Amino acid sequence: MPPIRTVDSIIAENKVVVFSKSFCPFCKKVKALFDELKVIYECLELDLMGDEGHILHQDLIKKTGQTSVPNIFINGKHIGGCDKTLALHADGTLQTMLDGTYREYDYDLVVLGGGSGGLAASKEAASLGKKVAVCDFVTPSPIGTTWGLGGTCVNVGCIPKKLMHTASLIGETLKDAPCFGWEVPENVKHDWARMVDEIQTYIKSLNFGYRKTLRENSVTYINAYAQFCDPSDPHKLKVTSKSKSYEITARKFLIAVGGRPKYPDIPGAKEFGITSDDIFSLPYCPGKTLIVGGSYIALECAGFLAGLGLDVTVMVRSILLRGFDQQMAKMIGDHMNKHGVKFLSECVPTSVERIEEGTPGLLRVSGKLKDGEVVSGNYNTVLFAVGREACTKNIGLAEIGVILNTDNGKVICDDEEKSSLDHVYAIGDVLDGRLELTPVAVEAGRNLAQRLYGGSTVRTDYSNVPTTVFTPLEYGCVGMSEDAAVALYGVDDIEVYHAHFQPLEFELSKRDNFISYAKLVCVKSEMERVVGFHVLGPNAGEITQGYALTLKLKATKSDFNRLIGIHPTCAEVFTTMNISKSSGAALQKTAC
Ligand code: FAD
Ligand code: NDP
Repeated sequence: MPPIRTVDSIIAENKVVVFSKSFCPFCKKVKALFDELKVIYECLELDLMGDEGHILHQDLIKKTGQTSVPNIFINGKHIGGCDKTLALHADGTLQTMLDGTYREYDYDLVVLGGGSGGLAASKEAASLGKKVAVCDFVTPSPIGTTWGLGGTCVNVGCIPKKLMHTASLIGETLKDAPCFGWEVPENVKHDWARMVDEIQTYIKSLNFGYRKTLRENSVTYINAYAQFCDPSDPHKLKVTSKSKSYEITARKFLIAVGGRPKYPDIPGAKEFGITSDDIFSLPYCPGKTLIVGGSYIALECAGFLAGLGLDVTVMVRSILLRGFDQQMAKMIGDHMNKHGVKFLSECVPTSVERIEEGTPGLLRVSGKLKDGEVVSGNYNTVLFAVGREACTKNIGLAEIGVILNTDNGKVICDDEEKSSLDHVYAIGDVLDGRLELTPVAVEAGRNLAQRLYGGSTVRTDYSNVPTTVFTPLEYGCVGMSEDAAVALYGVDDIEVYHAHFQPLEFELSKRDNFISYAKLVCVKSEMERVVGFHVLGPNAGEITQGYALTLKLKATKSDFNRLIGIHPTCAEVFTTMNISKSSGAALQKTAC
């Protein structure tokens, strides 16, 4: 009589064992996978084994607690059923188990950076059953500003910026209010400290919410600075909190450490200057302010500070809003200038000195114009908005073999956000060659987690990403600038339709008379497909978000013509626009 087989004896004798039932579709799926991978496995069809099958099934339930089949073991280790096996295959772990290189890690995924991208990816991965940790640590700014969980957008970016933009728009509305019958007292004052206090209280509630959501999603939050510390072990991370330092391991890593503001390399910049990291929590009103830089952050900060009644100068090295449609950039500059923002163009700072202590104190800033002329001026505050640098210095990425772009320190990845190392990925502001915007980081994080652990094949589509510059008159756009379209298709193949329009809300006060502007950039040879959408006007962000879909769906100018507008809105201008630039006709002025 042959010896009685037990589950233990079977798994001890065979590298791969599938306990199956012949009719079970999930068992068939797993067997098909192993066949495809050319894995030699022992398959026991319990339903065809009579009493022995029944005894083995009871033994299996006792050993694993799992009642269903298939029930799989590799090298004596219990794997689980069909879903578990397929998930292990999807994330590459199954192969390591089969080829004997399998290693136990503390986590399936460790995310470096708890900002927009890192939080989205970690929650998604945890929801797919993975053991996930997020390391987030805020290194204080040179003047000591620090903040809570959530990254740039929530603490020192989109959220406080939009709220300060709103504060400045409310000031404009107050000026219009008498035309609508409101009796507004003269000399209405703005209280900077109160605004900052309200905004910071709101941000703290968001920080708390993020910590709570991580807990609810079973993501471990490690409030510590993360660094790869051992070039011979790229799965090991050193995490350093305020009180201790220790090591953790993970099968995969996601780099989502974002960036921090740069300072120009001039005397006094770090000692006396501030950046966007500081302005939103500055406890005192910045007073007369010099902003250095000519892009998103410089213009947005200049816009809301001027809107709050401050004396603001913007020092611009070359052009405004490099990479954006230059006709629109000029219109933004002109509008801001008309509203009191001064521009010091083609000028770079050379030094900052403190001439008076205080909050704010007084600073003397020297600069050099393009023709070499030296200029200087006194300001209470200098805010540098000269770009951002990736937080990849000193975290050991190059040492473990992750290839970085040597110009900007960002992580070079393929179309699936995978770096030069198979187990290291990057998303968000730290990912080379992609837009630095919150929704881009969030989308990339979710898609990546779904591909790694949810069997998805969906890649992030980085084309036609809409964006808005929240200057006093907002500028929203999606697709190509007119300049870029002409460069790509040739001037003869591009038609531009445009109109100035007057928002109804500006009519009574005659504010910004017909300064708002809209244009569609179309490719003639493709039935006037719209490849660029641009709008300068109130709520441009809201308008652009909806219309962005038309570019994704490859809409043509005639699709816009067939669309019926919503009256009275600013957005309806796009449904009635009929003056082309090439016609040379006088620019249409549309009022609601
Ligand atoms: P981040 O949000 O920067 O998160 C990275 C996190 O990692 C941070 O918390 C950082 O402290 C932490 N970290 C860094 N290194 C380590 C380490 N070694 N260990 C542990 N933690 C680490 N985008 C928009 O879409 N709309 C806007 O209106 C907008 N306005 C903006 C205004 C300003 C002033 C700024 C600065 C940015 C703005 N952005 C806006 C851009 C947006 O904030 C970023 O694109 C977005 O936050 C990027 O997310 P992320 O996850 O890549 O990185
Ligand atoms: P950018 O890199 O877009 O622009 C940097 C600006 O600083 C440029 O005007 C550049 O001039 C100037 N500059 C660079 N170095 C110097 C120097 N040494 N002296 C003087 N000027 C200098 O950076 P931002 O900080 O404005 O924005 C970073 C990113 O954050 C954006 O690309 C955007 O993705 C995101 N963001 C998004 C917002 C939104 O969605 N509304 C708002 C704010 C930020 P030059 O053109 O001559 O190089």
